[in-house]
Amino acid sequence: MNVLIFGPPGAGKGTQAVNIVETFNLYQVSTGDLLRNEVKNQTSIGRDIENIISKGDFATDEIVNELIKKVVHDPQKKNNLVFDGYPRSLSQAENLDKLLNETNQKIDFIFFLNVKKDTIIKRIEKRKILEKRSDDNLVTILKRYDTYMETTKPVLNFYSKNPNFYEIDGGGKIDEISSKIKQILSV
Ligand code: AMP
Repeated sequence: MNVLIFGPPGAGKGTQAVNIVETFNLYQVSTGDLLRNEVKNQTSIGRDIENIISKGDFATDEIVNELIKKVVHDPQKKNNLVFDGYPRSLSQAENLDKLLNETNQKIDFIFFLNVKKDTIIKRIEKRKILEKRSDDNLVTILKRYDTYMETTKPVLNFYSKNPNFYEIDGGGKIDEISSKIKQILSV
């Protein structure tokens, strides 16, 4: 099965993706992680990406679509994917649809982790101390949240009509959210 986790920054998408991946033996596809890897490995695009991420801007569609294409087209990972942080715009959602169509795949489950703005701010401030991410400061958090509301949230219209769309209250405890998700995926 392919699973997509959708939600604002700080909703816990990465945490839940890791849980699903471990339970069901799938692959996590986090564009954030893929981009941070480019920075870490000091690739030719790494320096530009570092700047983009720390300002809270989006990497270009060209870059993220290319990273996603490699994973979706990988025969070993086919139908075993958990998307986390992609798509973040309508054009990315259309691109994902196209890539899945051309590889005879589809999204089987979509989870929308819904979390309020004040909870997000508190969580990211905590994560800043634990993970030392360059984009986890208040100015960048607010910018990322606004971009989510403007550019990413409209993607929900694209997915919410899907019969396998599930809205989950992402404001609760990690374990409770995980067990809700696992229950749905185990049916
Ligand atoms: P994340 O780890 O998902 O919170 O992503 C961290 C940062 O990576 C984002 O704030 C963006 O700067 C960049 N990024 C991640 N995914 C995407 C995407 N699908 N499109 C554009 N930029 C992205």
